Amino acid sequence: MRFRCPHCNTLSNVRNSEQQSPTVTYLYVQCTNLECGHNWRVDAAAALTLSPSARPRTDVLIPLSPYVRRAALGMHMQLAPAGEHKGSGPLQLDLMDEDGPITQHPS
Ligand SMILES: [Zn+2]
Repeated sequence: MRFRCPHCNTLSNVRNSEQQSPTVTYLYVQCTNLECGHNWRVDAAAALTLSPSARPRTDVLIPLSPYVRRAALGMHMQLAPAGEHKGSGPLQLDLMDEDGPITQHPS
């Protein structure tokens, strides 16, 4: 991996790296232009999941791209069994009821 030097725009080499956490790594970069000689650190961080891991860690939280979320929701909807609705039907409320508006009348 190479970066452009922020001062002279020369392609520069990563000389060392230190993993700080599962999602953050520090990269130490050295400019190859001898007249410049700039050395700097790049903080590389996992920013967005484009394809989910098959072996996810519970302590690693990387935001999903909107495309992954749509695909996961579509897959979930296809695989989820259809449930039988057992609701009691719509509530019929009388807003003028003396006992208050939250009264359900038998239908
Ligand atoms: Zn440079």
